[in-house]
Amino acid sequence: MQLKKNSWGNISSPNHQFKDLDSKDVAQNTISNHSNGIVYGMGRSYGDVCLNQDGLLWKSKKLNRLISFDEKLGILECESGMTLKSIQDLVIPKGWMLPVSPGTQFVTVGGAIANDIHGKNHHQAGTFGNHITEILLLRSDSDPILCGPNKNKNWFKATIGGIGLTGIIFSCKIQLKKINGSWLEAESIPFQGLDKFFELTKESDSDWEYTAAWIDCLYKKEIRGIFERGKHVIKDKKFKNFQISFPFTPPFSLVNKLTISIFNPIYFFLKSFFSGKRTIHYSKFLHPLDNIHNWNRMYGTRGFYQFQCVMPHESSKETLKKMLDLITELKMGSFLAVLKSFSNFEPVGLLSFSEPGITFAMDFPNKGNKTELLFHELEKIVIQSGGKIYLAKDMLMSKESFEASYKSLDSFATFRDPNISSQMSKRLFGDSIG
Ligand SMILES: Cc1cc2nc3c(=O)[nH]c(=O)nc-3n(C[C@H](O)[C@H](O)[C@H](O)COP(=O)(O)OP(=O)(O)OC[C@H]3O[C@@H](n4cnc5c(N)ncnc54)[C@H](O)[C@@H]3O)c2cc1C
Repeated sequence: MQLKKNSWGNISSPNHQFKDLDSKDVAQNTISNHSNGIVYGMGRSYGDVCLNQDGLLWKSKKLNRLISFDEKLGILECESGMTLKSIQDLVIPKGWMLPVSPGTQFVTVGGAIANDIHGKNHHQAGTFGNHITEILLLRSDSDPILCGPNKNKNWFKATIGGIGLTGIIFSCKIQLKKINGSWLEAESIPFQGLDKFFELTKESDSDWEYTAAWIDCLYKKEIRGIFERGKHVIKDKKFKNFQISFPFTPPFSLVNKLTISIFNPIYFFLKSFFSGKRTIHYSKFLHPLDNIHNWNRMYGTRGFYQFQCVMPHESSKETLKKMLDLITELKMGSFLAVLKSFSNFEPVGLLSFSEPGITFAMDFPNKGNKTELLFHELEKIVIQSGGKIYLAKDMLMSKESFEASYKSLDSFATFRDPNISSQMSKRLFGDSIG
């Protein structure tokens, strides 16, 4: 069956064949009988990591069974198509929580492993892969492989962050974290200057489980932004959730230089005015955009790109300045501009993104060549600084930059499944399969 399937940036809708994976099928036959396929989870990656122009997408939506949940030890085993949202809904009332969750809960466990995602608590918890104790990996050329941190370790390291290229992750075991409630004590702190951001990060690292900062990337004088931090508190209160949906895709992007130049100062002013401490439900703090379904439509029919990089701590001030100057020079702007410090956790996977440094993410409407030029220039700045670009968000990085910044590529190559390839692997690994 043919399907129009996009990733979150809505950039392209190339031809895909698709096939559902399910438990009965045990996916093994699927992977052996079809070449040039890649698993598609919730398509919450922004670029082409989950796409496969003129190829096959294996949809994991039906691979969503809970296999077991040990309420005493907090160990959950599930199939890889289960979403983080459905896990949280099940385990939070029992005093457990996923140890790491990204900015949206609408992602699958398979997607979270394959991109080795991080959350606002990287400084205390590392990445999703740090909490996986076992993976059952299906291969087209061998029996299934059971791997974990102490079992078939090399397969485990290749699959965590392995962007779906080592096989189909059928199921896994996750060590959850104990919590004393689903509410957080949170604090918003307006700041000016990158030094202040570093100061706040340092001051918050041991006491505050979650931290991240929004910055106003159009403010010329000096970086200004809002630092957010939060930690779990005991609070007995019902949470009422309101959800809306962005109703249609306008023909042009509603996010542009003009709207951002109006919105950013208002947002900064309001956030500063209402700054200070408050209690907030975890879902509103960790996943603020989940209540607006299809918010990506506001970028119009041409879609948008996200640029997310990590840069070494030592040169981050200078690197960030160069990036912001470039954005101003090219008369571009981003409403979403998020800074977060990564701590010294060893990356789990050979291709894991996170490493010690500062990560910076920005969204830009797709304006064709102009946006591509901006991304290529940003890429140069990041690679020169010794940093790298996040594959979960990427659609434009060059093969040369990929090879220069992902240092364990050679070791990774030996673990690839011969029947699996994606639009990204064709672009960055030079695959010619299919
Ligand atoms: C609003 C928003 C906020 C976000 N915030 C963050 C954040 O804070 N931190 C962060 O790290 N990321 C963040 N992301 C990115 C997102 O967490 C990742 O892209 C995630 O991997 C998407 O999961 P998915 O289920 O949609 O997978 P997809 O996007 O469909 O696929 C991602 C990759 O996983 C592979 N894959 C999926 N399932 C399997 C399987 N069963 N077996 C093998 N491979 C598989 C796919 O082949 C593909 O390579 C955010 C995304 C959005 C839209």
